[in-house]
Amino acid sequence: MKPQLDERKCPMQAQICKAIPACPEGAILYIADEAAPLGGRIVFDYEKCNECGTCVTECCGAAIELK
Ligand code: SF4
Ligand code: SF4
Repeated sequence: MKPQLDERKCPMQAQICKAIPACPEGAILYIADEAAPLGGRIVFDYEKCNECGTCVTECCGAAIELK
């Protein structure tokens, strides 16, 4: 079970993201990307993720699921 982001529900803003600071493993990253509709993307580093589920409960848009 790994976290998956529903990008339709996510504003993709590092400043307001609650999942990034909540992750105990530092496994959630914001990457600026001018090609992305909102100027950046939020991605998971599955090598670091311990599948704890904290990002699911902290996500401001209920946009993360473990699948
Ligand atoms: S907390 Fe969730 S919905 Fe909000 S910006 Fe972060 S990943 Fe996106
Ligand atoms: S499941 Fe846990 S370790 Fe994995 S990205 Fe979410 S908060 Fe971080």
